[in-house]
Amino acid sequence: MYKSLMHTAAVAALLIGGSAHAASDADIAKTREILGTAVSFETSKGLGNVPKLAAYLAGELKKGGFTDEDIAIIPMGETAGMIVRYKGDGSSGKKGIGFAAHMDVVEADPKDWEREPFTMVEEDGYLFGRGVLDCKFGVSTLVATFLKLKAEGFVPTRDLVLVFTGDEESGMETTKALSYDYHDKIDIEYILNSDAGGAALAPDGTPVAYAIQAAEKTYASFEMTVTNPGGHSSRPRKDNAIYDLATALKKIEAFEFPAEVNEITTRYFATLGPIVGGETGAAMTAFAKNPKDKKALGILRASPEYVGTTGTTCIATMLKGGHAENALPQAATATINCRIFPGTKAEETLATLKGVVGNDAIEWKLLGDGTASPASPLRDDVVDAVTASVHAAYPGLTILPQMESGGTDGKHYRASGWPTYGISGIYMKMSDMFAHGLNERLPVATIPLALDHWHHLMTNLGSQK
Ligand SMILES: [Zn+2]
Repeated sequence: MYKSLMHTAAVAALLIGGSAHAASDADIAKTREILGTAVSFETSKGLGNVPKLAAYLAGELKKGGFTDEDIAIIPMGETAGMIVRYKGDGSSGKKGIGFAAHMDVVEADPKDWEREPFTMVEEDGYLFGRGVLDCKFGVSTLVATFLKLKAEGFVPTRDLVLVFTGDEESGMETTKALSYDYHDKIDIEYILNSDAGGAALAPDGTPVAYAIQAAEKTYASFEMTVTNPGGHSSRPRKDNAIYDLATALKKIEAFEFPAEVNEITTRYFATLGPIVGGETGAAMTAFAKNPKDKKALGILRASPEYVGTTGTTCIATMLKGGHAENALPQAATATINCRIFPGTKAEETLATLKGVVGNDAIEWKLLGDGTASPASPLRDDVVDAVTASVHAAYPGLTILPQMESGGTDGKHYRASGWPTYGISGIYMKMSDMFAHGLNERLPVATIPLALDHWHHLMTNLGSQK
């Protein structure tokens, strides 16, 4: 997403934005304190530190006026999920609004990092540390905003609920528990997720567009295996596991899934077309008007950045076969990774692939759970509130609905019936994107923007009747 937006850097220069922040120096300092402490808990998989981070956050919230009754920490194995309820007066008559983040991080090996990954440090306008971006920034800005609103005496017209998971980067067991087992207890209408969406900045720092992530493609990997009696390679037989697998792979290579569109991708291409311009921009505009336009589809599918937004993709990613150089292979296996357009189940995509290959002797296996997650409708109340919040900082900035190929907690939230919108408060250059990688960093300048973003959204949505 960020990358695709960088094409539009020239246009961004036309945008004039920026306004005084509502977040005070004290708010910023408090957020940095929470973020730095959160980073110091090494919450990678298997270390048992997520419950400690949750307990720390609970302590901060209680100091700020939240009660034991408002806070639930749900232990699950070595990790935990967390729910924090900011009680409303119920005057809107509506269910609550969820605000999501995850407390765990991807592993970071200190010997590979230039700086100690679990000690947050500031250098040249950046905070460095594992999780400063993904997703402890979401955790700390949401908690800091809850504390500020409480201190201001704000009483929302409906409950605002923090929904924090503890293994987003690994098994998503806490995500599943919160989505399915605690669904009724959490009792919300929809979720705003800090772990996706946000604004992309041009190299000169001006914002290009703000993305609302309203859908995720389903991630599903399939293993296809051909078996064979094998034998000695000096006495070859006509049928061969490696040749059979290669034939099947060539058929998958030649196959293209049909073009698909939804409300989000149509608005994405319609919005981005005039901004991107040129042949690609014209193809976006044409495809948004008519998804049957073969020429436009061809141009978009030739681009690794846009092909995923035009339909399901499946691609070979791994290969293994044979066991000795002088033996006929007894088995050959390929892995096919698919990113499935919302609305189609993994099993249906598997059936399509089987049909394409047309070899009943091949054994197929779905790896992982292949949870399908529906696209979330672009609700006016959410889009309007996010637009108002973004425009308070940067008037007129383009708002771009987005379908990601990724996988966040949002896939289970959506599958459980909660529409979910990735709307992070991050304003960042693509060149600063080091999430999951070495030397993860956060531009210090985005802290007040994110605090304003959440404060604006919670007071706006939380005041509506
Ligand atoms: Zn994340």
